[in-house]
Amino acid sequence: MDDVTQKRVSRRTFLKGVTAGAVSMGLYTHGTLRAAAEVEAAQETQTPERANGDGQMKLYFFYSGWLNVPRGYFAQENEQANQTFIDCPMPFVLIEHKGKHVLFDIGNPENVIEGTYSEWNRMTMKMDISEWMPNALARLNLTTEDIDLILLSHLHPDHAGCLELFPHATVVLRRTEYELPDRYVTVPETIDWCLIEDSENYDVFGDGRVVLFFTPGHTAGHQSMMVRTQQHGVLVFAADACCLKANMDDNLLPVYCTPEAERKNYARFRAMEKAGMTILPGHDPQAWAAFPVAPAYIE
Ligand SMILES: [Zn+2]
Repeated sequence: MDDVTQKRVSRRTFLKGVTAGAVSMGLYTHGTLRAAAEVEAAQETQTPERANGDGQMKLYFFYSGWLNVPRGYFAQENEQANQTFIDCPMPFVLIEHKGKHVLFDIGNPENVIEGTYSEWNRMTMKMDISEWMPNALARLNLTTEDIDLILLSHLHPDHAGCLELFPHATVVLRRTEYELPDRYVTVPETIDWCLIEDSENYDVFGDGRVVLFFTPGHTAGHQSMMVRTQQHGVLVFAADACCLKANMDDNLLPVYCTPEAERKNYARFRAMEKAGMTILPGHDPQAWAAFPVAPAYIE
């Protein structure tokens, strides 16, 4: 554990060291997110920092395939929802900022190219070979070696399934998630972990543009990400803290969750939306369709 803590300390400055002159936006300080009203007030008074000489932040959207699943698995409503199948993306994003390349989630393992089926939730997953991580990055003339940092929402295969491709990466994860007894992905021994505490909002670049915040419920150590963009204001990448928009809008719970914690997440996302932020539920086809797929990008 000491070893991990030391690594964490050394890596704390990893990105902040390259953001000379970066000023904290003050909105997301360490500790729990401020109350919704405060977020709302801050949102009204603060505008995104403009890039200063090293290019504007770019955000690239990728799908590591699609899953076909009964709608009721993600949003329990009625018998009809259990019989209606929907196609949902399994996305990840790449952030290019301050000369660095940072991934939020990394998508599926290679075997999903062949297609997988799970009996218990009647879920089929399929990824085109062009969507597999190495090929996805190649669209931007990047390789896995070019990735400076990986941020993970949680350790499920559709979000963290190809860690083996990044054996020497620095990976930011909640300590709580790291310590969960059950892991559903293969985790290379050589990964350099940056483990953050439940109470902490992690400001990735030290300038308030990309902030991780704790959203337990889907898993005990789940986290989501907010990104302050020029073109679209604040985008909130909920990951599986809110899989479909209907979860937060209608308080519909998925089959797999801790209900009380998940409802708290939904209330928080509704408050953020009310404050003008755009919520991207982790597997909502309509929400993701509003954004272009890489190599296109938004700023
Ligand atoms: Zn998921």
